[in-house]
Amino acid sequence: MPYDHIVVASGELQNPRQVLSKTLLDRMEEAAKSDERVYLIKPEEVGDNALLRPKQEGTLTWHFKMENSRDIAFASSKAFIWDAARINLPSGKKAMLQSVYPKESDGYEAWGRSTEYGKASVEHYSEMWYEYPYPVAVNVAANVGGMEYPGLSFCSYRSKGESLWGVTDHEFGHNWFPMIVGTDERRHAWMDEGFNTFINYYSYLAFNDGEYTNNLIQTRRYANWLTNENREPTATHPDRTQSNNLGMVAYMKPAMGLMMLREYVIGHERFDNAFRSYIKTWAYKHPQPADFFNHFEHVVGENLDYFWKGWFYSNDNIDLASMGCILT
Ligand SMILES: [Zn+2]
Repeated sequence: MPYDHIVVASGELQNPRQVLSKTLLDRMEEAAKSDERVYLIKPEEVGDNALLRPKQEGTLTWHFKMENSRDIAFASSKAFIWDAARINLPSGKKAMLQSVYPKESDGYEAWGRSTEYGKASVEHYSEMWYEYPYPVAVNVAANVGGMEYPGLSFCSYRSKGESLWGVTDHEFGHNWFPMIVGTDERRHAWMDEGFNTFINYYSYLAFNDGEYTNNLIQTRRYANWLTNENREPTATHPDRTQSNNLGMVAYMKPAMGLMMLREYVIGHERFDNAFRSYIKTWAYKHPQPADFFNHFEHVVGENLDYFWKGWFYSNDNIDLASMGCILT
């Protein structure tokens, strides 16, 4: 890369001494111990090569290493503001949340909170479902709405406040589905976007003592939509789903299905036990829908065919008659 670029990537930087100035190395060390964000590059320092780069001409080679990853991504720019904070994981391990963004995205109402948002997400998902396995999580302000990669997300540089929280939380949530649990998004989008939207719901509620609200659980509002026979069932492959319906079919409906199981059908304790077990068992593997259904039922100890069939494979109401048969 040109000497005056900063590179962020999936995985851990292997040769910081060769590519970062002494000032950046010191600040990186400080950020690794801090729960508050620490500026690695302050807004007024962007372009100050003497302060930030170990050399003043030519190119630098950045080495990154990542394990158990189905993909990687990187971003490179000479216009990055860069900040970071420590991520505290349940086992006691630490990781690092980093954000890079241009001056246009700066400010506490905008990307100035990106690191706080990302750290909260990764810590929440680690606590609730499965520990984050990667050494860094990077949020990059970019010219897309939001796109996920293992350990690195691109979110819109224009997003601010709750919308930046929402997209950051969603894209980091994808580290669990489909990065850790290697779901096939092209065939079974609901096991990817739907499961992610489900875990986002609880992360949303937990963030900063409920600073933002999430109305996903108002299932009643959507009842007509969900049972409308002109809508595709959730199990429809996404390239066969009308694009206008995809948000409901692949994101909202499967998320609501899991939410109903957790809140009303199975209960928190049994649901969480089964869902955690599914993630742990299928981490770094590639489950199909039947693997999820089978594993979940096996751990819960209950036949849920009546629920899977109506909710994921059709637009039916839940088949209470067949549930009655199972229970008697
Ligand atoms: Zn998504």
